[in-house]
Amino acid sequence: MEPMLNCDSSLLDFLDRALVERKRQQLYRERQSLSSPQGAIIVRGGTRLINFSSNDYLGLAKHPALIEAASTAAAHAGVGSGASHLVVGHHDYHHQLEMALAKRTGRDAALLFSSGFSANLGVISALMNRHDEVFEDRLNHASLIDGAKLSGAKLTRFRHQDLAHLAQCLERSSARKKLIVVDSVYSMDGDMAPLKELAALAKEHQSWLMVDDAHGFGWMGKTGAGITEQLNLTQADVPILMGTLGKALGTYGAFIAGSQALIDYLVQFARPYIYSTAMPPLVAAATLASLQILDSEPWRRAKLIALVDQFRLLALEQGLPLLTSSTPIQPMLTGSAECALFIAKRMQQAGYLTVAIRPPTVPEGASRLRITLTAAHTFEQVSDLVATLARVWAESREVGEQDGF
Ligand SMILES: *Cc1c(COP(=O)(O)O)cnc(C)c1O
Repeated sequence: MEPMLNCDSSLLDFLDRALVERKRQQLYRERQSLSSPQGAIIVRGGTRLINFSSNDYLGLAKHPALIEAASTAAAHAGVGSGASHLVVGHHDYHHQLEMALAKRTGRDAALLFSSGFSANLGVISALMNRHDEVFEDRLNHASLIDGAKLSGAKLTRFRHQDLAHLAQCLERSSARKKLIVVDSVYSMDGDMAPLKELAALAKEHQSWLMVDDAHGFGWMGKTGAGITEQLNLTQADVPILMGTLGKALGTYGAFIAGSQALIDYLVQFARPYIYSTAMPPLVAAATLASLQILDSEPWRRAKLIALVDQFRLLALEQGLPLLTSSTPIQPMLTGSAECALFIAKRMQQAGYLTVAIRPPTVPEGASRLRITLTAAHTFEQVSDLVATLARVWAESREVGEQDGF
């Protein structure tokens, strides 16, 4: 009895100290639950808010066709998949979706994962080992960094978007296998990776290239196939392509697309794939409906792009500190975490959700509001947003002067 108690109390002690420290640094995060569907207007913590913080770029998360597809599939296939893909969880809907994703991305084959995080862990750890080296942009998504760590390979992080630095790192390497990994669109900055140049560099240095298109797939490219379609990059240029389904496609899960051999290999060796329950078949069915909407409602992509242009034009006119981004991710740099929190709070009081992003998600001193636009917003909502941001930004300058942030 006694040792158990000691053990338990020291765990609580540890947790308590870590949480107090987190609060002291103003980095403590809290969740609030939605009581509405995801969308341009949400109800959160009992308040109605105009939402500029989701990744539901095409406004598909509550599209009637997806709801219909999910309900029909639930009636046919039930809810849970019941097992991993290799045991007995692989359903016709999964198979159809994999075929459709391969076709859409112009790849030989595709493989579904239950999340983007597990796809990234699975691919990198299956391909690389301790004799190898993984080269990652400093601002890559956490799951890509963790995938490299899990693989045991040497992890080299190059300066953000710095091809010369990457080339130096590649030259210095004597690793057996080399893998360059980048985000297509950086999730907290909104800027795009120079993929053409990266593909050339990868070839020059006999390195493999993996692109995480979480924030490009669905809205970028002529048919929404993502950044590789937009830049006309083939399977030979980008042999390992990852996309997620929980962002522009409005559902959940992720996929890897590439050669048939890559997919066959991952089925054998990607542990997060092998040892995880398959996504519910109804999610695959709803995602098939999303892909159809990419074709039947191309106005969603066009409108999203028009809203991004409108937002930037108005915000720059008001002198707001935007980062350089031509994507639906439009961060406004505030510097200190206090300033970001101040603005986010005032925006919320004015009826807008524009979430503050602080370290460790972004570097120290680079806190920001991460504003995201979706095809579900109206032009009026965007111009009202900018007017409110301008007012609150001016207020934050005054308050910041007094309070020192
Ligand atoms: C969201 C995201 C992921 C993780 O995908 P989930 O399906 O949410 O687990 C991976 N990479 C990037 C760049 C992301 O933005």
